[in-house]
Amino acid sequence: MHYISHIPGELDALPFPRRIALMGCTGSIGCSTLRVLEAWKASGKFHVEVLAAGRNIALLAQQAAEWRPPHLAVQDAEGPSGIEALRSLLRKAAPGYEPHISAGQAAYAALAALPSVDMVLSAQVGAAGLRATAAAAAAGKTICLANKESLVLAGQLIRALCRRTGAVVLPVDSEHCALFEGMVGRRESEIRRLMLTASGGPFRTKDAEFLKNVKPEDALKHPNWSMGAKITIDSATLMNKGLEVIEACHLYQMDTEDVHVLVHPQSIVHSLVELTDGSMMGHFAVPDMRLPIAACLSWPYMLDDRVTGVPFLDLAKSGTLTFEEPRCELFPCLDLARRAFAERRTVELNAANEVAVARFLGRDIGFTDIPALVASVVDASSPLPDFELGDGLAASVEAALTEIERRDAAARALAEAWRP
Ligand code: NDP
Repeated sequence: MHYISHIPGELDALPFPRRIALMGCTGSIGCSTLRVLEAWKASGKFHVEVLAAGRNIALLAQQAAEWRPPHLAVQDAEGPSGIEALRSLLRKAAPGYEPHISAGQAAYAALAALPSVDMVLSAQVGAAGLRATAAAAAAGKTICLANKESLVLAGQLIRALCRRTGAVVLPVDSEHCALFEGMVGRRESEIRRLMLTASGGPFRTKDAEFLKNVKPEDALKHPNWSMGAKITIDSATLMNKGLEVIEACHLYQMDTEDVHVLVHPQSIVHSLVELTDGSMMGHFAVPDMRLPIAACLSWPYMLDDRVTGVPFLDLAKSGTLTFEEPRCELFPCLDLARRAFAERRTVELNAANEVAVARFLGRDIGFTDIPALVASVVDASSPLPDFELGDGLAASVEAALTEIERRDAAARALAEAWRP
């Protein structure tokens, strides 16, 4: 087993102050990251260098007025959520503050690679996060990775880039962060399996008949976590756990059969590392994304977490902790993700899933259509070839990303055309 770039014991600590590019600053993870940075503001250990949003320019303007980073980015150059509209909001919210504002995927990538940035927190949702993550890896940055889809789409490329440039990926996903902490100081030969815990989502105990009639508003009610809409639906279908199995395979160079999934409805144990002597190292904490975000931002140190406001866990009051096998026959997305990884069809898996989730949220297809749609697109695809990083790094990264994006677009077209 190898960590994506360094094993933690060898990880050179980035000096403070750390200069941060926050990609996806207006989302659930983005806002939680700013809450952590707010709690640490007085320490002067972090500077926000870049805030990159999508289309929520009202929130971006508020955040920018508070943090005053020199660079901002948005999804659209023009229109109601474009650059001029943002400038006009900033003139009112922060007179005299004149940041550089850019737009679109090329801009996100350029900002993630800026020489004035040390750490990139990658928290855009879906395939939209890939270009910035890849640019950060190509530029040798420390990447705090929430956007698991980057690894699902381009895990092999990102691993190769990390080896070439010395970039480091620290997992923000709570389960992978828990595994990472559980593996610190362990020899590779001592680790038998990784156990990813899953809440099981809101329909853990329901039957097939119930699932047929699930509405978006039911699926958006996650029992333990407050997250963006896409990942909340992925949690309800167990696709999120499937994407996480793929993420763990790339991060820790494991085969899918060595990454086990265990349903744990209380979401107190965030994952477990099973050792070869039969013991397990578990990571226990309240379910709050500020913890893994803080762990990654400050890695390998632990800053005073009391100020982040995350409550301490009172195990005596947590009630009974239970564990069970996932019901894969009712929630086929988990096995589908394992198969897509083994068959190198994860670009299509991800694209089809993004479209299926959007169509479900738009009430165009039903909940149980999601796995059917994804399986049909995955089955129609061909395996992704290996990428070689040549001497011209930029050209080979561009060729790989172009091929991934071509496959992504083709899979999205099939997924849009799919009928139940
Ligand atoms: P949200 O939907 O809350 O936020 C997504 C962010 O991405 C927003 O800033 C949004 O901008 C931006 N965005 C959306 N589409 C685009 C686009 N086409 N181009 C550029 N930016 C875009 O998502 P989450 O914060 O929940 O999740 C972010 C990532 O973190 C996902 O990959 C998810 O799987 C992962 N993750 C999330 C967890 C959580 O607890 N939320 C836990 C573990 C992982 P805007 O709103 O301005 O349009």
